[in-house]
Amino acid sequence: MIVTIDGPAGTGKSTVARTLADRLGFEFLNTGAMYRAVAYACRQQDLDLADDRAVADVASTLEILFVQNRLILNGEDVTDAIRCQQITQSASIVAANPAVRRRLVELQRLVGRDTNLVTEGRDQGTTVFPKAECKFFLTASAEERARRRQRELEEKGELISLAELIEQQELRDRRDENRACSPLQPASDALLIDTTEMSLAEVASYLELLVQRASLTLNRR
Ligand code: C5P
Repeated sequence: MIVTIDGPAGTGKSTVARTLADRLGFEFLNTGAMYRAVAYACRQQDLDLADDRAVADVASTLEILFVQNRLILNGEDVTDAIRCQQITQSASIVAANPAVRRRLVELQRLVGRDTNLVTEGRDQGTTVFPKAECKFFLTASAEERARRRQRELEEKGELISLAELIEQQELRDRRDENRACSPLQPASDALLIDTTEMSLAEVASYLELLVQRASLTLNRR
């Protein structure tokens, strides 16, 4: 069974998807980390991110592995390094590159082959796993999303104003929603869930219930 969780930044997708995967005993895939890894590799080589051909070449040769939820890029653990602000913005630039997307979609489908998976990102229900049995699209108000990001950064000792975070978030949302290739949008058969007023634990429990119900229905067929 494949469960997809898509939505913009700060809606709690990663935390919810990880919790859900743990509770269901499913594999977990964080696809945003893969786009971040491509951005990181490009930055390491001082590439111009607008140079589509060069960025695509880098993406085509990378080895990206998840080992116990750590991201290993060409043998290097980059899990923490890809979480900084610079890589966050760069990831949404390389994510508009169709060749990068083709390569990462291929890798994501390999992860989902013959396994039970909870996967989160922007295009999991629309492009990568259009036949997924359960599709969710999480939303939340822009302010609440920025506040969640602010708390996350604070825990790492990074202090950034809410206004600045909202501005960065808008820029990223605009890029993700307006790119030609797999723009951020809910699949027509996805369930939309507004998480503004919910704790992430509540969201995870709600999704768990829905997945269990769907699984019962599938088993009865
Ligand atoms: O989810 P996260 O914030 O880590 O994603 C970083 C960037 O990667 C997003 O802003 C988006 O541009 C890109 N992304 C994507 N498709 C996905 C996952 C992430 O385009 N499935």
